[in-house]
Amino acid sequence: MSNLRFKAVEKALARKAKEVHAPSGKTSDYFGENVFDRHQMQKYLSKETLKLVLDAIDRGEPLDRNVASHVAAGMRMWAMEKGATHYTHWFHPLTDGTAEKHDAFIDFDGRGGVIEYFDGKVLAQQEPDASSFPSGGIRNTFEARGYSAWDPSSPAFIVDDTLCIPTIFISYTGEALDYKTPLLKALNAVDKAATEVAGYFDRNVKKVIAYLGLEQEYFLVDESLFFARPDLALTERTLMGHESAKNQQLEDHYFGNIPARVSAFMRELEYECYKLSIPLKTRHNEVAPNQFELAPIHEECNLAIDHNLLLMSVMKKVADRHNFKVLLHEKPFKGVNGSGKHCNFSLGTDNGINLFAPGKNTESNLRFITFVANVLMAVYKNNALLKASISSATNVHRLGANEAPPSIISVFLGSQISELLDELENSKEIKDIIFKEKTGKRLSLNHIPEIFIDNTDRNRTSPFAFTGNRFEFRAVGSSANCAAAMLALNSAVAHQLRQFKQEVDALIKSGKGKNEAIFEIIRNYIKESGPIRFDGNGYSEEWKIKAEKRGLDCESRVPVIYDAYLKPETISMFSDTKVLNEKELHARNEVKWEQYTKKVQIEARVLGDLAMNHIIPVSTRYQGLLLDIVYKVKHIYGEEKAREISGQDMVIIEDIAGHINAIKTKVDAMVDARKVANRIDDEREKALSYCENVAPYLDEIRYHIDKLELTVDNEMWTLPKYRELLFMR
Ligand code: ADP
Ligand code: MG
Repeated sequence: MSNLRFKAVEKALARKAKEVHAPSGKTSDYFGENVFDRHQMQKYLSKETLKLVLDAIDRGEPLDRNVASHVAAGMRMWAMEKGATHYTHWFHPLTDGTAEKHDAFIDFDGRGGVIEYFDGKVLAQQEPDASSFPSGGIRNTFEARGYSAWDPSSPAFIVDDTLCIPTIFISYTGEALDYKTPLLKALNAVDKAATEVAGYFDRNVKKVIAYLGLEQEYFLVDESLFFARPDLALTERTLMGHESAKNQQLEDHYFGNIPARVSAFMRELEYECYKLSIPLKTRHNEVAPNQFELAPIHEECNLAIDHNLLLMSVMKKVADRHNFKVLLHEKPFKGVNGSGKHCNFSLGTDNGINLFAPGKNTESNLRFITFVANVLMAVYKNNALLKASISSATNVHRLGANEAPPSIISVFLGSQISELLDELENSKEIKDIIFKEKTGKRLSLNHIPEIFIDNTDRNRTSPFAFTGNRFEFRAVGSSANCAAAMLALNSAVAHQLRQFKQEVDALIKSGKGKNEAIFEIIRNYIKESGPIRFDGNGYSEEWKIKAEKRGLDCESRVPVIYDAYLKPETISMFSDTKVLNEKELHARNEVKWEQYTKKVQIEARVLGDLAMNHIIPVSTRYQGLLLDIVYKVKHIYGEEKAREISGQDMVIIEDIAGHINAIKTKVDAMVDARKVANRIDDEREKALSYCENVAPYLDEIRYHIDKLELTVDNEMWTLPKYRELLFMR
């Protein structure tokens, strides 16, 4: 028998670090060379066109069709000089990832030949056939028209031979079929609302920008081992596999050197990213074996998300060249850490002030506390929605399922800010507001010149943590398009800030001073949002019980978590901020439920197949071997002596039989459960049926398979084991 596993292991062991395809010169020499950025626009566009495009970028002014054709001409010239032959509208459909359809830069010239052609109309708007993208019933297939239109706030770029134009994607009736459209609306809403509130403290603020810095965690697995595991290849997670004897318990990977093969991959990845203006800054090992992290410098939120989506696809390409597979799945391996995409979120003004950074005087500290208190309120009121925005069939294994932290959203502030807020809450007048420094010195907020935030005060278990000058939304999953989370968060904060403004203005109208009015509302907010604050161990059992009592959303079934999008408060929040209307919310939930169902369905099929045609045959063969021995021993030595000699073998034979029977029974039951679920028409009910009646079998079947893995002869086992997948590179 040829054992695929041993071949794969041999191949993986023989690999050496690949040569890095990257120049050794300064990064600034090639940074952004494949991006049609402001610098290139200056070279390729006329002065007037440039001005109009920059207005569109900086002030969100709509782009005129005439201007678009001038831009298109310049863009085409630039792209062709760089060797591009095709172009595509690059957008983010409601499935994770991006979509592209490549068209060549040619058209008939009317004289039997072709000319290079790329019209401005195409830049402004295209009509890709939308029928195969999920829309949750907004479009039926007879109306398969969707529009994609250039988003000038994200520059065009070249990948291989193709000019990629970041676009929004909407249905012919105007509903969003993508993530970017509502994200841009949410960013606009938070800009408006935050600018007004920032105006209490500084009248010169004209614009507030949401910033996002994404820490991307991922695993690398040798390509041969990956392809020898059909579950990894088809679902990106191991549906079986007993824990390795050595795991992450020594925490030696986090502190270890980056292995040579990985380091070559990283250096080439960085080069490819720099050419696309993705400002990668840090790279390091993560906690689990073969787990790594990289993080670019934070950027404007929309751009940061485009860059993350691009990064994920570049990672896969570069990994291929180094004979690796990148696993972006949130939990590829049981028993070791999962992967997240920590979203570092802040709001900054056009005059350079970070609204989440404490300042140097009372006024700026009041501003700081105002914005922190509003975020607390927004997260508190929308904790179920924020959870829904990060929930998926894959992220559930990292949040909510067994051996994962519970899926409950809470905010960690650290002891300094917590104490400050507690004192604020209990004080009657502004004068009395006391801030306790780490040293224990008590100072009045009115008089302290500066708040120093202790950056070391970190809580790694919190899904949403304040980290000195920003909030870190850690619950976001590593494979996600985090636009879903960011559009929910920014809308919620925008909505909250609007309400704050109204409440403060009402008090001012009734005769209160501005600061007094702000303090009063903040005090109320601190009190009201109290239940969302939690600085303890978010992974503990006690927290689950406590959170339930506090009224936080503790639902852990993903299809039910999605209901949060359709609660009346959510619908009105999204419609007040004009980010998504009710019809869109319903449609998008249909897509989410459908996606959930499909993911579990695929996992169930893959596991069923592997159980029946890998695990059981191999186990039976080993069992047969043992039976043969027992039989022969009996013939040679007689019954009594045989029991002494091969008694243990008989135990193993029966043990194997027990697991095989359990697997067979459970696979049959899982197939039946799937059949029942598949007959359900309603997408929510179907997803729920998959969640409650199908998904549990995945763990149950796995249990027996993992037991067999420990028993069956290592030489016979065909699927690479955890110790190989996790420790070979
Ligand atoms: P950590 O200690 O969490 O690993 P890093 O310094 O690695 O922190 O930063 C993580 C991410 O946070 C980076 O992308 C960084 O640019 C981003 N970041 C830093 N400051 C801000 C900010 N004010 N707003 C948004 N993101 C920020
Ligand atoms: Mg961080």
